[in-house]
Amino acid sequence: MIQDKIWLSSPHMGGAEQKYVQEAFDTNWIAPLGPNVKGFEEAIETYIGQGTHAACLSSGTGAIHIGLELLGVGYGDEVICQSLTFSASANPITYLGATPVFVDSERETWNLCPDLLEKAIADRIQKGRKPKAIIAVHLYGMPYKCDEIQEIALKYDIPVLEDSAEALGSRYRDRKCGSLGDLSILSFNGNKIITTSGGGALLTMDEKVKAKAIFLSTQARDNAPHYQHSHIGYNYRMSNVLAGIGRGQMEVLSERVTARRKNYSIYKDALSEISEITFLEEPDYAYSNRWLTTILTDSFETREKIRLFLEEANIESRPLWKPMHLQPVFNSCPSYINGVSEEMFEKGLCLPSGSNLLKSDLDRVIENIMNTLS
Ligand SMILES: *Cc1c(COP(=O)(O)O)cnc(C)c1O
Repeated sequence: MIQDKIWLSSPHMGGAEQKYVQEAFDTNWIAPLGPNVKGFEEAIETYIGQGTHAACLSSGTGAIHIGLELLGVGYGDEVICQSLTFSASANPITYLGATPVFVDSERETWNLCPDLLEKAIADRIQKGRKPKAIIAVHLYGMPYKCDEIQEIALKYDIPVLEDSAEALGSRYRDRKCGSLGDLSILSFNGNKIITTSGGGALLTMDEKVKAKAIFLSTQARDNAPHYQHSHIGYNYRMSNVLAGIGRGQMEVLSERVTARRKNYSIYKDALSEISEITFLEEPDYAYSNRWLTTILTDSFETREKIRLFLEEANIESRPLWKPMHLQPVFNSCPSYINGVSEEMFEKGLCLPSGSNLLKSDLDRVIENIMNTLS
């Protein structure tokens, strides 16, 4: 008998979403602006704190695109990007005619390695190619080493775009992820900790930058009664219907973080005795939303054995992100590599981590992993 599918990370509605979507219909605000967009932005701003301003957009990818443009990235520039990430972190660099320069990870958080970052910057400067921006990622919700990265960024006067797509609800010391870069982005794609089915946000401390982001994302219309343009614009604003889903999701965000962290601790309690498996611990300065629970196995063979065994049991798991410097599409880009991301890719696995998983689902995953290795 085939058991029900257990998904890696599926949408989890809270209940109030339909009320806000209904409001959009009742008031005929079926447009990429309206009261839900404003309400969703205010909810994000209140949650992140620190005087953050949020511009809700149609995707996290679009937010990175606009963010890089606001940081001054243009044709022929170079932008440093964490190699171990989802391709959406890097793709927008190329939309602007710039080139990604990939930098490897450190072992403590699996994110951008500060030492290698500084080496890469020094080497690019020596080649007459000073990077225009740095994209750092809180992978799987685990905050990167913000102090160290910020210190290097300040030393060389290069802005940081904080890719917080996977880290809404995480904290670095007492600050929420999303408030830690010169600009920051969130994603509300279907598999993220909260979702609008598709959407994203650009976060800034500067109200004027938010206004510019909205200007660019709504076709860059000059202030005139007719349609006049002195900039190239984009159609990236969030729909008022989808923002209604976002407002409902913000009401349950804290519960979602609690549930995902609980998944992690259940897996860890059950599996930490197994010698082939290790878990990614939080450094003392970090609070992770545990968007996905990830394990590191002792070899590629063990990782594949577990993955295929789970697949057989109708359970979705997934290797960690394939590093960008190994992607065929980016193979001509410069990269600074120390072996960490390649090892993670070989040995790492993401386990089902949805906030809607039942204890019985987690038990089924755990039992299957134990059976694989026994
Ligand atoms: C999901 C994700 C994005 C892109 O967000 P979309 O809303 O899907 O465009 C960017 N970076 C990372 C690390 C992501 O996981």
